[in-house]
Amino acid sequence: MQTFDFFSPIEELHAPLYQEKGVRVYIKRDDLIHPYISGNKWRKLKYPLQSAQSKNKTLLVTFGGAWSNHLLATACAGAKFNFQTYGFVRGEEINNPVLALCKVFGMQLHFVDRESYKNKKVLFDQYFKDRPEAFFIDEGGYGLKAAQGCAEIIQELTEPFDHIFCACGTGTTFAGLIQGAAAQSLSPDINIHGVPVLKGGAFIWDEISELGATRSPYTHLHTDYHFGGYAKTKPELINYVKKFTRRTGILIEPTYTGKLCYAVEDLIAQDYFTSGSKIIILHTGGLTGFLGMFDKF
Ligand SMILES: *Cc1c(COP(=O)(O)O)cnc(C)c1O
Repeated sequence: MQTFDFFSPIEELHAPLYQEKGVRVYIKRDDLIHPYISGNKWRKLKYPLQSAQSKNKTLLVTFGGAWSNHLLATACAGAKFNFQTYGFVRGEEINNPVLALCKVFGMQLHFVDRESYKNKKVLFDQYFKDRPEAFFIDEGGYGLKAAQGCAEIIQELTEPFDHIFCACGTGTTFAGLIQGAAAQSLSPDINIHGVPVLKGGAFIWDEISELGATRSPYTHLHTDYHFGGYAKTKPELINYVKKFTRRTGILIEPTYTGKLCYAVEDLIAQDYFTSGSKIIILHTGGLTGFLGMFDKF
């Protein structure tokens, strides 16, 4: 499959706090990979799409909530790489900017109640068992091949870092970073940090072990930055998103990257890192999520 490879740039961020604590902070701009096949969603789709194509599958079937960055990424990638797309959307039928974009890119949407939505394989079988052209992609792109795509982020680090941070939804990106770090030698001691955006984020340890990534003294989850749960916010978080964006010119949003950047800032302030540490934050994109939160700003 003809795909696109975009080497996302790394920028250094500056703030008086970083100087005071003697740390250097960078951000890898996966948000610049593509406006809609954004960030880690492209990383996660790359190998599944190649696999779909090699199996002569022409229809991508996937799952997501009404504001899902993954649904939109799949819709757009389908249009770009010549697949039809079908999305099961959790909850009653509605329209919003993200779903409208999915439709523009040609995705057929099928709203299902929350109960039926729970078992993705059952839904897939129910509607696509007799459709050999259909290819299953799990919610959020979760999967082994998806993690493989995320592992490539580590290979793109052109200088050594002591810490890399990502936001965690399904944990696939975190798992990929862990696998990528295990396989390369530039930063053999790099610490991999995940910031779960859901409550009770310790479940991510189980998810990543399903994906073949192992927990070690170099892997860390910071489970206290969910701000009440998935897509929940607090004024403190909203203020931080504004402050960061204003300071850097780099847009973040409250659902994923806002919580991530807040966590890094808070850990720096708490002297979590030794002086001299080099920290890199992975900007996983997903900026259309902002559209669902505009009334908070
Ligand atoms: C989907 C998403 C994540 C979560 O990635 P996982 O691999 O599911 O943990 C993080 N950031 C953004 C912006 C996302 O859209």
